[in-house]
Order: sequence, then C-alpha cells, then structure tokens
Amino acid sequence: MQITPKGEPVVISPRAAAPDDKVNILGLDRTELKDAIAASGIPDRQVKMRTAQVWHWLYHRGVSDFTAMTNVAKDLRAHLDAHFIIRRPEVADAQYSEDGTRKYLIRFDDGNEAETVFIPDGDRGTLCVSSQVGCTLNCTFCHTGTMRLVRNLTAAEIVAQLMVARDDLGEWETPTEGRKITNIVLMGMGEPLYNFDGVKKALEIIMDEAGIQLSKRRITLSTSGVVPHMERCGAEIGVNLAVSLHAVRDDVRSRIMPINKKYPLDAVLKACADYPGAHNARRITFEYTMLDGVNDSDDDARELVRLIRKYKLPAKVNLIPFNPWPGTDFTCSPWERIQRFSDIVYEGGISAPIRTPRGRDIMAACGQLKSASEKKSKAEERRAREAATADGPIGHNGGPALSEQFSSTGLT
Ligand code: SAH
Ligand code: SF4
Repeated sequence: MQITPKGEPVVISPRAAAPDDKVNILGLDRTELKDAIAASGIPDRQVKMRTAQVWHWLYHRGVSDFTAMTNVAKDLRAHLDAHFIIRRPEVADAQYSEDGTRKYLIRFDDGNEAETVFIPDGDRGTLCVSSQVGCTLNCTFCHTGTMRLVRNLTAAEIVAQLMVARDDLGEWETPTEGRKITNIVLMGMGEPLYNFDGVKKALEIIMDEAGIQLSKRRITLSTSGVVPHMERCGAEIGVNLAVSLHAVRDDVRSRIMPINKKYPLDAVLKACADYPGAHNARRITFEYTMLDGVNDSDDDARELVRLIRKYKLPAKVNLIPFNPWPGTDFTCSPWERIQRFSDIVYEGGISAPIRTPRGRDIMAACGQLKSASEKKSKAEERRAREAATADGPIGHNGGPALSEQFSSTGLT
C-alpha cells in the first residue's frame, strides 16, 4: 500500500497489476483518462482529483514525465509511472523556412506519417494540423490528393501534432500568455469531416479550459464540402468553418474536385447558409485557389459575388495563389489576374484578400503536403493503382467513415 501526503491510501487492486505495455495517456480525453486512472487501481474517491491533476500537467504544462508533476505525491507518481507513459510521436523531420514557417513530419506508432505546419505572422501564429494520412478525395490540384495510403488519424494523433509543435516552440513555459500558437486550422492533410469523431474529440481536448485552452473562435476547420457533416460541425464542435470552393460552376468544380459530383455547389452553399453560428461577425471563409485559365476569369469573380449574395452568406473569400508541386499540370494565375479577381469581389462588397504563400521553399504551403514515405516513383504509383483496381484501396485500415468516403466519391 502506498500513502499519499493527504494520508489517502492508494490501494493497488488486482486489475491494477503493472501491465507489460504501459498505456500512453497522451491524447486521452477526460473520460478516458479517468477510466485509465481508475483501472490502474487508484481508489474511487481519489480518481476525480487525480484525473484533474494529471490533466493539468499533461495539457496545461506539457510535461512528458511523471517526475515533473510536482504537486503529486512521490509514491503516486511512482504508481503512475509504473502503469502509464506520456509519449509523443516521433518527429521524423523538421524543416524551417526562411520566412519562419516550420514544417514537421510526424511519424506515428504504425509508421504512417503526416505533416503539421506552423506559420508565424506578427502577433499571430497558426498551426495547420492534419486530420488524415493522405486524403481520399483526389482534388486534381492538391498534392495530398495524390497519396494512396489513407487512414484517419486518432484524436490522440491530432492532439499530438499540437504538443510536438509547442515543444519545438518552447511554448509550455507560458501556457496562456505570450503564446506562439494562437490559432489552429484543420487545413493540413486530409478531409477533417471524413474523420468527424476523431477531429471532434481532439478539438474538445484542445479547447478544454483546464488544459490547452484554445478558444473555438481561434479554430477553423476547412472542408471540401462534405455536406451531411457541415451542420454537425457547427452544432457539435462550434468552430469556424472554411469551405474549399475553388470554382463557381458545377462542371469546373466537378473536374477539379470530384466530390462535387456527390455534393454540388447548390448543396454546399445551402449548407453554408444553414451553418450554425455563422453571422457577420463570424463569417464563413471560402478558399479559392487561383488556377491559370481554369477558374480565374472576370466572369468567375462576378459569379462568385452573385452566389454569395444569392445564398445570403456572411462570407469572405481567401484567394490562394496555386502552390506548385512536382508533376502537377496546373499553373498559378498571373499576379495581375489574381489582383483583378480580388478587386471584382471587393467591388461586390465582399472581402477577398490574397493569401501570401508561406513556406513554399520547404513545400509547406497549402496543398503541397505529402509525407516523404509517400513520394513514390511513377512505376510504384502505377503498380499501386493496378493493385487497387484488383483488390480495393491499398493500406486502407480506417473505419466506416473511410469506407463511406471511398464509396461516396466512387474512387474505389
Ligand atoms: N481537405 C480540406 C483541408 C485542406 S485545406 C479541404 O480541402 O478543405 C488546404 C486548402 O488548400 C484547401 O482549400 C485546398 O483546396 C487548398 N489547396 C490544395 N492544393 C493546393 C495547391 N496546390 N495550391 C493552393 N491551394 C491548395
Ligand atoms: Fe483532400 Fe483537401 Fe487536398 Fe482535396 S484539397 S485532396 S479534400 S486535402
């Protein structure tokens, strides 16, 4: 029996015998952490308090070692250490751009990798987080869309991206003031709404007031327009919404974003109009990547204004210069074209800033993410495609949400 400073005995029950493999508690939500602590043999009446203590050290202070939990009794720390570990995934590669952008290649326990990007901008620092390894949606202008290995990231793996970035930025010293990561965008690899449960759970951990404490107003989820989950996103998670629009006519959008065949413009824009919590102070962002000769005419700009008015959307438009990647057939619209497009949208009363590309020198800009292990040769890609046609998707080990994606987009 161990004794805590308050004199509370820590009874180690039979179910609490130290496991061969310690449980990694990093990334557990409150309920899971409480259950794990209870299952380790901490007496029931202490579980709530111990969970709160450990939660604080894990998510507010960012410790990776039980010995650092200084307000926890020594023998209890030893107990926690015997049962649990606090382990971040491996950072397989970290690249720093000359503009201050940092890109992390994160390798998870099963060897799969995803990229996370930190973008500093004055007082603001945005972390761009991935929600899947790869993406099943195959937008033709997106590098991530060419990846074949896909699985959903777990909530723990999504939270870990933030933990790893905060470690690298030395951010735990001042958990709330002077933060470097002030905003999070789910704009990395993957379609976050096809990993709804994982993303929701991760964001709940990140928004928790006794932990990382990032407000939902500082979090933006970007979707390619998965209509059935957009309403849920607003109602259940409550974060800002960004929608990858990229075209204002169904034929063009279907060509560059195959998901448009399933959820065409009208359905996407109606879902935006119904998005819970969208109003003028909290507008929906439309992302619009400028593709030379594809979606960048004056008519396209005028149609964009017309649509936003027609659906009465509290919206702003982010114009993203296309970021090239090896093997792409697209080119970025010329600068004067992007400016003209922006002017027309502004004249229509809608804000349309041109986003400055960040981290291009380290392939960290929008749509350039693709994990190194996935940069296959052409021959490998061909073999993979052939095998996929014969046997279904390769390396697909996701749950029902992923099967839905494969069938919904007809990509199997
Ligand atoms: N899958 C989600 C999240 C990715 S967000 C989505 O599509 O919304 C990344 C943003 O960058 C999206 O708007 C995406 O369409 C855009 N993008 C993809 N490839 C790009 C490229 N090569 N250049 C510029 N933007 C790109
Ligand atoms: Fe996937 Fe978004 Fe890239 Fe489309 S733009 S392939 S949805 S990550």
